[in-house]
Amino acid sequence: MPELPEVETMCRGIRSIVGNVIFSVKDPGCDCRPMAISPSISSLHRRLRGRRIEQVSRLGKRVVLTFDAGYYLVFEPRMTGLVSLVDPPDWSHVRVRMEVETNRGIQEVWFWDRRGLGTLTGYDADELEARVRSKLGPDALEVGSEELTERFSTTRQAIKVALLDQRRLAGIGNLYAAEILHVAAIHPERTSDSLKTADWRRLHAAMRRVLEEAIRYEGSTLSDGTYRNALNQAGGYQNHHRVYARAGEPCGTCRKRIVERIVQAQRSTFFCPGCQPRRRRS
Ligand SMILES: [Zn+2]
Repeated sequence: MPELPEVETMCRGIRSIVGNVIFSVKDPGCDCRPMAISPSISSLHRRLRGRRIEQVSRLGKRVVLTFDAGYYLVFEPRMTGLVSLVDPPDWSHVRVRMEVETNRGIQEVWFWDRRGLGTLTGYDADELEARVRSKLGPDALEVGSEELTERFSTTRQAIKVALLDQRRLAGIGNLYAAEILHVAAIHPERTSDSLKTADWRRLHAAMRRVLEEAIRYEGSTLSDGTYRNALNQAGGYQNHHRVYARAGEPCGTCRKRIVERIVQAQRSTFFCPGCQPRRRRS
């Protein structure tokens, strides 16, 4: 689940390690189905021991540690992953443990993942470009309204499905796509090429508004309780979802209609048929 706001919150939560040096990268001996880690933890340890962390940044829905001499460690949380400095939700699903030397002593950084679908990959600059950056569209918080329109308006895909395509736009997943389309008053099944200039402007503004609000609330913690902020607390944005996981409840925006759930590309979509009409009001 972690999308742009949750991954941004993870980055902010670990940013205090910037400027410090890696002491060790360890395998905590998790008994679960192994997650994809490349190269192996022992080669990451050999490669990174003594190297300085120059930057912590977000690349779409990934956390990136930049090291001196152009090496990058990319954490992709996918469904249930979490990168944190504080105690993980449990100890049995900690996949990687890094020790960082700070002037207050050793600081541990965990990569925890209950389902283990996340990945951890080390890249040099060329590999990062070829395997990750070149496959991602512009960041959802940075894209301009015109570029957004250009990148989406030629496809006949439903706008909700297109928004999840990380090659078009990086950072949006199932939850925030539903919230953004609700705020933009756009029906999720409208084809992207049917949207008009005014729709794109509303969509762009809604995207900024929803993502920035969610970052302020440090993301959304869903009912599985997996996602935690940097202080090991639940995020706060789930209490402000307008439609996501609210099927059958009255719409809080119009207070007239009931939020509906449909399935698009095997994923649930939530919307209000009153606020998000299939056809534009004339
Ligand atoms: Zn409504």
